[in-house]
Amino acid sequence: MSHPDRFCLAGVMGWPVMHSRSPRLHNYWFGKYGLMGSYVPLAIKADGLRAALRALPALGFAGCNLTIPHKETAFEIVDEVDETARRIGATNCIVVRPDGSLLARNYDGWGWAESIIAAAPDWRADAGPIAVMGAGGGARAIVVTLAERGAKEIRLVNRTFERAKRLESEIGAPVRAVAWTERAAALDGAAMLVNTTSQGMVGQPALDLALDKLPRTALVSDLIYIPKATPLLAAARARGNPTVNGLGMLLNQARPAFRDWFGVLPEVTAELCAMIEATL
Ligand code: NAP
Repeated sequence: MSHPDRFCLAGVMGWPVMHSRSPRLHNYWFGKYGLMGSYVPLAIKADGLRAALRALPALGFAGCNLTIPHKETAFEIVDEVDETARRIGATNCIVVRPDGSLLARNYDGWGWAESIIAAAPDWRADAGPIAVMGAGGGARAIVVTLAERGAKEIRLVNRTFERAKRLESEIGAPVRAVAWTERAAALDGAAMLVNTTSQGMVGQPALDLALDKLPRTALVSDLIYIPKATPLLAAARARGNPTVNGLGMLLNQARPAFRDWFGVLPEVTAELCAMIEATL
């Protein structure tokens, strides 16, 4: 599909921002779908966010992604926040509407679920108890998505118990906060384990979690994608559990944003995965 009358513009606002893979991703899709356009890194400090966001319509931007440190503060600037973003408490995607108003959305959880379904097409959130390690920003997107998709029991385990408790009271059933000391027991009978902590990331120690109680059929997901296989994923795979890393989440969250901005829902192909993996 082509829009000869339109030059498609979007970008990612953050500070720092130059490490972002989003420009490569979206610019690949412009080429693949025959659209004239550009997706650019926008280095915006916290105190510049309001002016930068408000400039988007005048500059002809269809919208932008947001990364650190703007994902929560943008709520005070935009005109509307969608229900999912409000529940997650953060936005990663701004859409400029035809009247120039700004809509904040969050596609992190959708992208994560799509990456799971791509790896395990029969996966369902309500198939059994789900143990989630961590209660930070990433966990919020996962827990809201699991609840929206009908999860019956989410055992939310976090080093700082109060943070898990807060999420439990915000989301309600099916979330149950579990103490960090009980993390190994929380895997008993689980259909899925999701690591949303920073443990296992390059430069960080491995997540300290014994897998003995985890059924070997349980799907193990780690939001981390550098390294491709965290010590958790390597240990899970060695005992026979199916595993999914965080790259698919990164790639898939971009798809509905591209659709909102340019009217095409792009695909995550093996070629695209390889191209982004080569930059990690
Ligand atoms: P965050 O908001 O800072 O949360 C960090 C989480 O890690 C908290 O639950 C924290 O527990 C826990 N944690 C930190 N150090 C720990 C330790 N030594 N032992 C146990 N738990 C520890 O970060 P985030 O934004 O959620 O990101 C978390 C991870 O997810 C990062 O590796 C990030 O790269 C990844 N991520 C990936 C994607 C993707 O697209 N694939 C998207 C989002 C995030 P406390 O509450 O006790 O501090």
